[in-house]
Amino acid sequence: MIDRDTIAAIATPAGAGGVGIVRLSGPGARAIGEGIAGRALMARRAAYARFRDAHGATIDDGIALYFAAPASYTGEDVVELQAHGSPAVLHQLVDRCCALGARRARPGEFSERAFLEGKLDLAQAEAVADLIAASDVRAARAARRALEGEFSRRVEAIADAMLRARIHVEAAIDFADEPIETLGGPQLQADLSATAAALEALLRDAEHGRRLRDGLHAVIVGPPNAGKSSLLNALAGRDRAIVTDVAGTTRDLLHEAVRIDGVELTLVDTAGLREGGDAIEREGMRRAHAELERADLAIVVLDARDPAAGRDAVVSAAHGAPAQLWLLNKSDLLPEDGAQPSGDVPGDALAVSALTGEGLDALHDRLRALAAGDAGASEGAFTARARHVDALRRAAEGLVQARGELARESLDLAAEALRQSHDALGEITGRVRADDLLGHIFSSFCIGK
Ligand code: GDP
Repeated sequence: MIDRDTIAAIATPAGAGGVGIVRLSGPGARAIGEGIAGRALMARRAAYARFRDAHGATIDDGIALYFAAPASYTGEDVVELQAHGSPAVLHQLVDRCCALGARRARPGEFSERAFLEGKLDLAQAEAVADLIAASDVRAARAARRALEGEFSRRVEAIADAMLRARIHVEAAIDFADEPIETLGGPQLQADLSATAAALEALLRDAEHGRRLRDGLHAVIVGPPNAGKSSLLNALAGRDRAIVTDVAGTTRDLLHEAVRIDGVELTLVDTAGLREGGDAIEREGMRRAHAELERADLAIVVLDARDPAAGRDAVVSAAHGAPAQLWLLNKSDLLPEDGAQPSGDVPGDALAVSALTGEGLDALHDRLRALAAGDAGASEGAFTARARHVDALRRAAEGLVQARGELARESLDLAAEALRQSHDALGEITGRVRADDLLGHIFSSFCIGK
């Protein structure tokens, strides 16, 4: 075990509250806690105590709780001092902890210790932060699932299958005299195909989990004056974007976090996409294109009276986003006779009016459905981060490459591709596995010895 110091921090949010908690973790936690409480602390027993400063003056009275290692959040000895939630009281308690030998904890250091003590893997430690930051029930549930290891277990299962494949391939290289069939060549291909399928499914779920955590990243795009800024305002419920009828007003991107029925949406209003314009406007367009490339959804806004106007430039720009939602705005200006607008738009385009609010409920429903993904995928969903999605993508690419090399019987290249794929998975949970391999080979695969 690594010899660590003892850390202390206020665990409850900044500001005044009914109860505030100072948390200690490390080998000195119990002694420091007992020094402040002035009495012995028994594991898992709430001890009512008077917390005193160096001169014996009362800081506050409250409850001290001691969790003995390893049965604590961090896996170390932990003491929680629960006092009245006054910043003055809590700061005095932390000062007292430090005077008695503790050090102020860095952000996330309690969870970092839980990771180092093997209480949580990296993905689970990240899920703790996601749970704390979760802004709606669904995101909180998804973070809980990741915290309980649902995501990690699936990563581990795939990593284990990959480890077995690596053992086969490395052994086939090391024992080149053996025919590859005895090393399970055909079986290996079959196993890798199953692993690839599992990896693809996990990647899809992680992408869904990433949206649950980060919200759907939607970019509003459309020709000048289609009503993009007005729609952003209508969705945001306040005047955030500047609305004018001078074409090219929105030169920069406006980032607006909008919450609709508990779903976080980031809307980015883009400069109108059109040819020409001055340097600033062109820069706005460049940013709009860059934004579209990393968007989950392009919200295409056209003027309902003339959907064909500017449509082609918008279509080519919106092409970069994986999903599109078409809106025909200014529906209030359409003739009463219900004549269909001319112009080539998808059948599921929504008629809306940023001015009167017409169609905005339907738009909310669409956005919510898109953000949530399909209902089936929400069942058992877990939160994931961009870094996880990236690692899973690299793992999937490595696996595709490995299977190709195996088919060509280039064992060295297959081994290398599998190693990279396996390492990418290891990054997610933070389990160091590189050195495991030799041990596994010689313990589980002792050919002819
Ligand atoms: P943007 O350039 O696409 O961001 O368009 P704006 O939001 O600035 O709107 C351009 C003009 O259209 C403004 O004068 C708005 O008031 C007007 N406008 C926007 N949406 C509607 C709508 O639904 N109905 C009507 N009648 N006017 C609208």
